[in-house]
Amino acid sequence: MNATVLTDQFGRRIDYVRLSVTDRCDLRCSYCIPEGFTGFEEPEHWLNFDEIERLIGAFARLGVSRIRLTGGEPLLRRDIAGLAGRIAALPGIDDLSLSTNATQLDRHAQALKAAGVTRLNVSLDSLQQARVEKINGRDVLAKVMAGLAAAQEAGFAPIKLNMVALAGSNDDEIDEMVAFCMERGFVLRLIEAMPMGDTGRNAEYLDLQPVKERLRTQFDLIETTLPGAGPARYLGTADGGFNVGFITPISQHFCQTCNRIRIAVDGTAYMCLGQDEKFEFRPLLRDGCSDAELEAAILGAINLKPERHEFNESPQKILRFMSMTGG
Ligand code: SAM
Repeated sequence: MNATVLTDQFGRRIDYVRLSVTDRCDLRCSYCIPEGFTGFEEPEHWLNFDEIERLIGAFARLGVSRIRLTGGEPLLRRDIAGLAGRIAALPGIDDLSLSTNATQLDRHAQALKAAGVTRLNVSLDSLQQARVEKINGRDVLAKVMAGLAAAQEAGFAPIKLNMVALAGSNDDEIDEMVAFCMERGFVLRLIEAMPMGDTGRNAEYLDLQPVKERLRTQFDLIETTLPGAGPARYLGTADGGFNVGFITPISQHFCQTCNRIRIAVDGTAYMCLGQDEKFEFRPLLRDGCSDAELEAAILGAINLKPERHEFNESPQKILRFMSMTGG
């Protein structure tokens, strides 16, 4: 256990980094990357594995113990399991997780598990093939199902399924998704769409508070907490066999307990999903900075972390898409 603690100017302990390893994705989810988007980062700007290892190592020395690999779609980054192994081996890192759309998870699940990834989140917005094609932009439901099976086979447990709940697109499927997760042993997480770029800000936003109350009664669920729950508020069955989390950045924001920052593929650290404060680590890393300089830069960057997002007051504010910041 590391004695150093990274704390921001509002007294929040920052022990969690979400690291985007690519801004590319093989899907075009309606609320995330618009079809035809071309503003991807140049490959020469991507942090390489040595730079990532050095940067995360410095965060770990300052008390960060949890890393999530994300993107874009992290499984598109070549040798992602190799990178995972290097991060898992860093002193101080005791929780390495990965978020994926699972379209290629069947090929990667075993290697990721062997590399030290302990937890998986899989995005799945619908159980209907035509809807997946419409919401996520590609006909991939069968591949995702194969990926989920491979992940269970590899021994990942629990696996969390992330469903962005969209009014008029998949909100009539929430009960089916609950039943599916109960049967297969997945944790379900329902997410409110956030206004990012010009996606997520449309009429499809669904307030999850009434959904939570309805599911509580319908499935006889009680309030519960899960380890590493982050911003999700959970309901579960009394026997603990099934849990559903609600991530409600719009209807009930959770900034006062925010413990994280995000690092984009180019080494830019974003202090808040819904604000512009950022610090670019790539120039430092490429200019041969010392470890002490790197650590001082991290401490300075954490001081920039704003108190809260303003998705409600200024929904037009954030021009980055989720895939650029790292979801
Ligand atoms: N490709 C990986 C995946 O599918 O999990 C990782 C990146 S993805 C951007 C991470 C999560 O962000 C996904 O669960 C996705 O549904 C969610 N997401 C993307 N844009 C969003 C938005 N505007 N509002 C809410 N969630 C969003």
